Amino acid sequence: MEIKFVEAKTLKAKPDVSKIGFGTHFTDYMFEMNYNPTDGWHDPKIVPYADMAISPANTTIHYGQAIFDGLKAYKHNGKPVIFRASTHLQRVNVSAKIMDIPELPFDVMLTGLKKLIYTERDWIPTEKGQSLYIRPFVFATDNFLGVNVSKTYKFLIILSPVAAYYAHGFAPVKIMVEDKYVRAVRGGLGAAKTPANYAASLHAGLVAHEKNYDQVLWLDGVERKYIEEVGSMNILFKINGEIVSPSPKEQTSILDGITRRTVNQIAADWGYPVVERKISIDEVIAAHDNGTLEEVFGSGTAAVISPVGLLEYKGKEYVINGGKIGDFTQKMYDYIEGIHTGEVEDKFGFIEAAE
Ligand SMILES: *Cc1c(COP(=O)(O)O)cnc(C)c1O
Repeated sequence: MEIKFVEAKTLKAKPDVSKIGFGTHFTDYMFEMNYNPTDGWHDPKIVPYADMAISPANTTIHYGQAIFDGLKAYKHNGKPVIFRASTHLQRVNVSAKIMDIPELPFDVMLTGLKKLIYTERDWIPTEKGQSLYIRPFVFATDNFLGVNVSKTYKFLIILSPVAAYYAHGFAPVKIMVEDKYVRAVRGGLGAAKTPANYAASLHAGLVAHEKNYDQVLWLDGVERKYIEEVGSMNILFKINGEIVSPSPKEQTSILDGITRRTVNQIAADWGYPVVERKISIDEVIAAHDNGTLEEVFGSGTAAVISPVGLLEYKGKEYVINGGKIGDFTQKMYDYIEGIHTGEVEDKFGFIEAAE
C-alpha cells in the first residue's frame, strides 16, 4: 500500500522541550488511515496535524469504542530510532481484537510510523530523558446513536515531544493501595489499552491525590486481594532477591506492559530469578514486615521506571527501602535509559531504525 504525503503550508516553531512537560505540544504531521467494510483499511497518508470535524453523533463519544498505544522515538548518532516499535504495534492489534475493531495491517502501520518519524526527525529532542512520544490510536467513526459495533474507523498516529519525566530527579512515589474502587475486572477490558479503563480510574486517582499520594495500586476486582497494576504502569517487586510481578496471562484484567517485559528480560539476563505469578497484598505486607520486601517499582513507557517509596493500605503506611531508590531499580532505569540514548549496547534488539 502506497503512503501518500500531503505537505503542510507552514511549519510550527519548535518549543523548548525542557519546559513543556508531557503531551502538550504536537508536531507538524500525523499519519492517518481509514476503515470501511468495502475498502477495508485504506488510503494511508501523512497529512498536516490539524483539528478534525466530528459528528455530534460519533459513536466513540457516546460509547467509547476506541484503543490507543504509546511508545517513544530517540536519536542515535543523529538518526531517528524507535524503541520496540513492532512490539507496540502488535499490541495495537491485541487491543483492537478485544474491542471488536477490525485488525490493522501491521506492515502499513509500521511503514507509516517509520515514515512519519523520519519526516518529523527534527522534532526528536536529544537532551537526557527527553523523547518524541508516539501516540497511535483508533476510534469508531459511525454517526449513529444505536449501541452497536461501528462499521467505520479512523487510525491516527500523532507525535509529541516530551520533557524528561523526572525533571526534578529520579524520585520515589507514594502509592495508595485501592480497596474501594476497581479499574477493570476479570472478563472486562483490562487487557486492552482502551479509554474506558482510564475513565474508570480517574476518580480513584483524584481521591488519592487529595490524600497526597501520587498513584493508585489496583487490586483484583473479585477478591480485592491480588495485586494488579498502578494507574498507567505495571508493578514489580524485589522480594528476597527475586523479581516478582503479576502475570497478565493469569490475571486478564491487567494490561500486558512492554516495559515490564523489557525489565524482566534484562533482569533474567543479569541472572535474577524472574517470577510472574499472583501476589496478594497480604503477601507484600508480610514481606515488608519480615524484611524481605527489598524494592518496589512501576514500569511504563511514559516514566520508564518509577521507584515506589511508600505503600498505604487500610490506613497504614509501609515505607519501602527507607523511602529511597533501590539499587536494582536504579540500575534497571540507567540501563534502559542507556539503550534509549544509545550509550548501552542494544543486545536484545529493542531499537528499530526509522529510515
Ligand atoms: C500503557 C499501560 C501500561 C504500561 O505499558 P507499557 O507498554 O510498559 O507502556 C500499564 N498499565 C496500563 C493500564 C497501561 O495503559
